Amino acid sequence: MKLLVADDSNVSRTMLSAITKSWGYQVILAEDGEQAWQIMQEDNAPQLLLLDWEMPKMNGIEVCERVIAKYPENPPYIVLLTSRSSSDDIVEGLSKGANDYLSKPFDTAELQVRLQVGKRMVEMQDKLNDTLNELKELASHDSLTGLLNRRAIMEGLPKEIKRMKRQEHVLCIGMCDIDHFKQVNDTYGHLVGDEVLKEVTKRMAATLREYDLLGRYGGEEFLVITPVDSNKNGLMVYQRICDVVSSQAIKVNNLSISVTISCGVATYSADSDVQTITELIARADEALYQAKDNGRNQVVFK
Ligand code: GH3
Ligand code: MG
Ligand code: MG
Ligand code: MG
Repeated sequence: MKLLVADDSNVSRTMLSAITKSWGYQVILAEDGEQAWQIMQEDNAPQLLLLDWEMPKMNGIEVCERVIAKYPENPPYIVLLTSRSSSDDIVEGLSKGANDYLSKPFDTAELQVRLQVGKRMVEMQDKLNDTLNELKELASHDSLTGLLNRRAIMEGLPKEIKRMKRQEHVLCIGMCDIDHFKQVNDTYGHLVGDEVLKEVTKRMAATLREYDLLGRYGGEEFLVITPVDSNKNGLMVYQRICDVVSSQAIKVNNLSISVTISCGVATYSADSDVQTITELIARADEALYQAKDNGRNQVVFK
């Protein structure tokens, strides 16, 4: 684990560096508070800090305050080293964000266990953050295709509408549904159906631009939200999606399965008569039914 050691005394620094290295820390040294603060602003800054209180340019307390303000969600663990030992000083140090302190001259064994406590806290916090991120990912993504799930893409829609209003473009809300997908399942089985679903979404995603949104709305239905500068360009986006799905048969195991999709697209612009998201989705749905009625493997704009 990285450990930032900041101390203006050459002797102290050298001693602290040698001893903490011998305990297995990857030590980064700073000669004063300003240097410590510089280091803490870099990517992958250390999460365990041993700061001398009295330092020129910027003292340990000020480094504490800045670091805590910079990483409010994920603050590093800070041990202050001080020759002060009055309870007022200790209260001040801890209230500015330090987690622990040691009075100089300190006992080596005590420093070792206090750093161990810090290391454990940092590791626990890392694990907690990983779990939180996993939960966020699980809550917003579909497990089969890895796409945004229905809730996440519906949550993204109001933001897209606001953005569109600012830029006075057209927002296309497309409902895309695999044609006769039940037949794929009935013929080849559900597991093969799953693989086909995954490949279809991969192809769709590959044709989209980074500012388009693609989400799994339901079983074999996808919502594709694309801001465009004209209806004509919107039509091209969805036509391309249809083409890329139908152009080549999908290979699963030794099977070669041809599928097509149909897209119903509602457009929304500043002067649009449709106002709510529910209405927009309903309109896209209507267009989709029309595309199915017209023979599938096509795009209908409404
Ligand atoms: P249409 O062209 O009218 O859309 O016909 P369709 O057969 O695609 O439509 P239908 O709604 O009758 O069937 C949808 C099928 O999609 C039925 C369902 O079992 C299948 N499906 C939905 N989600 C999944 C999934 O996650 N995996 C698999 N393998 N199949 C799924
Ligand atoms: Mg000092
Ligand atoms: Mg279908
Ligand atoms: Mg369907």
